[in-house]
Amino acid sequence: MSTVKVRIAPSPTGSPHVGTAYMGLFNYAFARSRNGKFILRIEDTDQTRSRSEYETGIFNALHWIGLTWDEGPDVGGPNGPYRQSERTELYRTHARMLLDNGSAYHCFCTPQRLAEMRERMAAEKISGGYDGHCRNLPETEVREKLDRGDPFVIRMKVPESGECVVHDRLRGEIRYQLDGIDDQILLKSDRFPTYHLANVVDDHLMQITHVIRGEEWLPSTPKHILLYRAFGWDPPEFIHMPLLLNPDGSKLSKRKNPTAIDYYRDAGYLPEALLNYLGLMSYSRPNQEEKFTLEEFVSDFDIDRISLGGAVFDLKKLKWLTGRYIRENHLPDDLWNRYKQWRLNDGFLVRMLPMMMNRLQTLGDLIPACAFLLATDIEYETELLKPQNRSLEEIAPVLQTLAFQFETRSEWTAAGIERDVNETARFWNWPIRDVTRILFVAVMGREIGPPLFESMEILGSNMSRRRLMNALDAAGGLGRKKLKALEKRWIERGRGAEATAEEN
Ligand code: GLU
Repeated sequence: MSTVKVRIAPSPTGSPHVGTAYMGLFNYAFARSRNGKFILRIEDTDQTRSRSEYETGIFNALHWIGLTWDEGPDVGGPNGPYRQSERTELYRTHARMLLDNGSAYHCFCTPQRLAEMRERMAAEKISGGYDGHCRNLPETEVREKLDRGDPFVIRMKVPESGECVVHDRLRGEIRYQLDGIDDQILLKSDRFPTYHLANVVDDHLMQITHVIRGEEWLPSTPKHILLYRAFGWDPPEFIHMPLLLNPDGSKLSKRKNPTAIDYYRDAGYLPEALLNYLGLMSYSRPNQEEKFTLEEFVSDFDIDRISLGGAVFDLKKLKWLTGRYIRENHLPDDLWNRYKQWRLNDGFLVRMLPMMMNRLQTLGDLIPACAFLLATDIEYETELLKPQNRSLEEIAPVLQTLAFQFETRSEWTAAGIERDVNETARFWNWPIRDVTRILFVAVMGREIGPPLFESMEILGSNMSRRRLMNALDAAGGLGRKKLKALEKRWIERGRGAEATAEEN
């Protein structure tokens, strides 16, 4: 039997997600329990969204939580490069192989033609993807267009009839009718591959034996199986893990729960507790123990014990487990070391002290003044959240638009945060000081304190966003309908859709 080889393949398009650590843990445990190899591959072919600092963030976050890998962009290995942007020539060669064996074709449709096609299909109430316009272009016409330098994409030629069976280890056989599968783009007009092509080519060339990934990729799997077939390769075994859920059963999302691994680090959770907690998601060990080390988890890991029931990610339970780690695994001296690794260190204090100094009369004034920077969560006095003459109903949407702003902010600096606050004030047509006041209380839990934007820079983006969401809850929340309407107006802002708070 061939050596077990598994991988995670995150895309560096944002703050590393707990879902990546979850997949990392199960892939790691599977590999280690079978003397296999665990690979980290960076899927950065989306040139507009991928950034190298997010890639570094992935390495750091996974190391923080305690995972290591045998092959990857940072450690090398026999199947590199492990960063897809460095493998583009390989994908082009493989796309050509599919053109040559008739499993793919050039498509010259312009964006305008595709838009018209979609409109026509919508008017005729036909569902589906590409209409196959370029599927059977005569060879001479294709040549002519290529020679002329017409832009093109390469599409997969999905057989018109028949079915594709996905074997998932946890779910059994899932049958897909081929007439429902789109002629997927494999190579884009910028000559970069899509996820599907790059993912399949790499899993094959890197000799991946088992693909353990999130359930959200299940609908892509028939396309992948078709690609394996088109290349004449054997597909790996597929294991689609249940998604992490919010306690209300919806998919874990940053609107309801912190999803960034860095949030848990900054908020003072212990990495071994978070990793342990992820090991309880959709899984129970044979001895039913809830608290375990990574080694223990690996020692009796059995992939077939994964259950498809909900993997509810509950912060309260994670907090409880972290508390057990603090109490049961530390003597005071070790715990003090953990504090130093966390925030009670020179680096943090030196960043924080300058803005605190002119607020101090005695040394003892420091700790109460900076408590909000060291607290996991803070309590709100709801009355304090609203500026004079404003109601709680008015402030919830303002908090939400601040959250929208901060979600898309990549550089977390005082100046950037200030710009976002100004934009929010413009959107609502509010005096800036009213918006600042709400944010101030949301971040610090009180009306007076050190400078707001500098404080938020030090607190960090994940923690600051979490405070906003908690303040929003304290203000009564928004409700789904209002949230949707506000999001639409927010997206359309600048196109004459500025709002007034009263409209809520
Ligand atoms: N790049 C995909 C992601 O971001 C990989 C999915 C897969 O594992 O196939 O998760």
